Amino acid sequence: MLRAVLVFLMLSVTTLPGAAQDLRALARVLADGSRLADDGRDVVLDLALTQAVPYRVFVLEDPRRVVLDFREVNWSELDAGFDRSDGIESVATGRGDAGWSRMVLRLARPMAVAEAGMRTDETDGSAQVRLRLEPVEAAAFADRAAHLPAGVRLPPVPVGQGDAAPREDGLIMVALDPGHGGVDPGALRDGQSEADLMLSFAMELREVLLRSGRFDVMLTREGDWFVSLPERITLARAARADVFLSLHADALAAGQARGATVYTLSDTASNAASEALAEAHDRADLLAGVDLAGNDDAVADVLLDLARLETAPRASALADALVAGIERSGLPLHPNPRMEAGFSVLKAADIPSALVEVGFLSDARDRENLLDPDWRAVMQAAIRDALLDWAEADEVRATMVRQ
Ligand SMILES: [Zn+2]
Repeated sequence: MLRAVLVFLMLSVTTLPGAAQDLRALARVLADGSRLADDGRDVVLDLALTQAVPYRVFVLEDPRRVVLDFREVNWSELDAGFDRSDGIESVATGRGDAGWSRMVLRLARPMAVAEAGMRTDETDGSAQVRLRLEPVEAAAFADRAAHLPAGVRLPPVPVGQGDAAPREDGLIMVALDPGHGGVDPGALRDGQSEADLMLSFAMELREVLLRSGRFDVMLTREGDWFVSLPERITLARAARADVFLSLHADALAAGQARGATVYTLSDTASNAASEALAEAHDRADLLAGVDLAGNDDAVADVLLDLARLETAPRASALADALVAGIERSGLPLHPNPRMEAGFSVLKAADIPSALVEVGFLSDARDRENLLDPDWRAVMQAAIRDALLDWAEADEVRATMVRQ
């Protein structure tokens, strides 16, 4: 099970006289005065900041990590020489949750935060962060209370936690996942970004679904901010989603892609273009400091396999229903619209998930369609009807399984 330990909560920052102008600029982490080094048995992290910013520190298991979040800093001046510690396996920096910049220290052995503090220079407003990590027993690391700083969102919660009394309102909870966002705009063409287009598409689709009276809807992001792929699953699961739809409008090399395409998860991609597409989506997370390798659902493999065994055919039926619905509406489909690839965002073991390329931003006709509100309305109605068809068939199937 995944546990997290709160070690230190946000520091409140007082505005210093003379530093007001600096506070509007993004704080920078300076190479000079920053280092990560072993100090006997302990590991000491020093970070020099151009100005004080709120920060928080917490630790995570599987794999063991110390996470530092700052609101916000520019990491670009830190260089490879910064890490001189044997106690740290790797250091990643990038964007974290909305409004936070993150440093992730992957621990070679279990360590706890023995000291965490920020000193501010009263004359120039600069700040120095010091973190001291000391070795602890594995059990001590694991046994810390599972409390995170307010607002921190965790990687996926294990399958089987709080398993799922049926919803009392009888509504189908749909998780809509507008692809990309924040530092990751997705595909860009003609001044349009995939992230923005898919956010407005998802918001419109939410209205269409809600108006039918059959659905409840949650969005994995409601603005232009970065949400990691595992977090998207976590958010859907926290909302007890019955079904997960990731919405995209990617760009591929000319001639490769045109028309709506529906993907389900598979280790083997349907073709090279699909494989490249799934890899490109992981890359944005890696850049943002998200450790996808450690982020598969943290339960015993055998349990995961059992859950996947049940979920995979339901996801497949979902994708088939979507393709059939889009076809019925006379909207353009890719010549081979049902594909598979290793999209990390489809890895929820317990929620039937599909990724819809509503169209490809790299294709002139698709791009025009995506920008046309009437076209979008037809596509959104097609998705609504497909979801209803699927839910009905899924209920029948579930009844048969129970008998
Ligand atoms: Zn995309």
